[in-house]
Amino acid sequence: EAPRSQAYFREAQERTAHNYHPLPVVVEHAEGAWMTDVDGTRYLDMLAGYSALNFGHGHPELLQVAHAQLDRLTLTSRAFVHDQFGTFCAALADLCGKELVLPMNTGAEAVETAIKVSRKWGYDIKGVTPDSAEIVVATGNFHGRTTTVVGFSDDPDARDGFGPFTPGFVPVPYGDAAALEAAITPSTVAVLIEPIQGEGGVVIPPDGYLREVRDITRRHNVLFAADEIQAGLGRTGRTFACDHEDVVPDLYVLGKALGGGIVPVSAVVADRDVLGVLHPGQHGSTFGGNALACAVGTKVVELLASGELQERSSTLGAVLRDRLEALVGKGVLAVRTRGLWAGVDIDPTVGTGRAVCEALMERRVLAKDTHGSTIRLAPPLVVSEDDLHWGLDQLEAVVTGG
Ligand code: PLP
Repeated sequence: EAPRSQAYFREAQERTAHNYHPLPVVVEHAEGAWMTDVDGTRYLDMLAGYSALNFGHGHPELLQVAHAQLDRLTLTSRAFVHDQFGTFCAALADLCGKELVLPMNTGAEAVETAIKVSRKWGYDIKGVTPDSAEIVVATGNFHGRTTTVVGFSDDPDARDGFGPFTPGFVPVPYGDAAALEAAITPSTVAVLIEPIQGEGGVVIPPDGYLREVRDITRRHNVLFAADEIQAGLGRTGRTFACDHEDVVPDLYVLGKALGGGIVPVSAVVADRDVLGVLHPGQHGSTFGGNALACAVGTKVVELLASGELQERSSTLGAVLRDRLEALVGKGVLAVRTRGLWAGVDIDPTVGTGRAVCEALMERRVLAKDTHGSTIRLAPPLVVSEDDLHWGLDQLEAVVTGG
């Protein structure tokens, strides 16, 4: 380990809460799919900020918009309106084929917003008995870190020690449409699921599941809220993961890449009959929908509008899939891919997911393990095919002991 990295790393570890276990790399600069550390070593980014960097580091058009907006106006609060607000809401609503947008900042806030909106809709529109609303969620979910949200997680690390929790959430096995339908009661206001479970290890539900969830929710007058925070905005080869089954949920919950890797931007996107239940004073955020966020977010939507990036994700995703499938039985137990996104289950005889990520780091590739033995690969969608192959060469070498 070079001395500069070590010193920075030690300082960081000494002066922060240890709620993460980072790899000992200290990044100073990044461009596209490559990050450079404080000692000048270059690494291929195969995590892309958990998909917040779908457009890569320092995307020129996003940077240009951000720089220009910084000089003009950054924040008004929602007490006033600024010139970027309506443009962003209209652009994002159109991308989603919906009427209204409610901008927030982080993913967890957008999930909380979807929960509040669903409950309010349940009481005001569906006529559910006050304070009895239920939301059906999936086992293995990850929707963020607030107390309400970790309260319906089944991951002991995420949950234990943080109770008491918010009631009103009913977990059912992910991917099991019959169990989901059986859990619906007259008090059910929404089903909240990830169309693909990202933190769970890129868990893809059985074909037809999302379509069934759509049919069931419609039949029972229940809202379908799709948490596309990690899966959405090009990652899977389509704009939304729900697109793979031609499913349109009632609420899109978006975040991560919506801020272009520059600012935190999240949103709930839905029609007027859903988001219209909120009235002044009932929900808000000081920074939600700020001018800088909206300017960047509008450019993000513009970059997605042509479908080029989604196409790229799909094409490179085929490369990723083929290369990874060739490793099954050779240090890899199983792989799941959709677009440029993969969960790779490492054979425990090779080592833990963490050990593999440390070995990858030695080979100048940065990835992150999840749940012990799984590695998630999610390079920026702008990664070159050659670089992707090179990154996968490194993974192959690590898992096959080459
Ligand atoms: N929902 C999903 C599906 C996520 O993957 C994440 C983050 O990983 C979140 C919500 C929470 O987002 P944030 O960390 O911005 O609060």
